[in-house]
Amino acid sequence: MSLKCPVCGKLKKDPVDCARHMFGTGDKPHKAWFEAQGLSYIDLLLSQATEPGNKAYIEVGGLIAKAQQG
Ligand SMILES: [Zn+2]
Repeated sequence: MSLKCPVCGKLKKDPVDCARHMFGTGDKPHKAWFEAQGLSYIDLLLSQATEPGNKAYIEVGGLIAKAQQG
């Protein structure tokens, strides 16, 4: 399921790919999106770096996908 980055509108191939883009870009507007969702960019980035299984990517990707379905 392809979806758009909620910040810059770039088309991504799936939710995890979109989340990876959000973290990888990490500029001010993308970080602001995390804050607007009540999430900590830094905490999620740390979790992604230190825990196995792409947990943070899946969580963030899921949120983006959910927002775009509704
Ligand atoms: Zn983007």
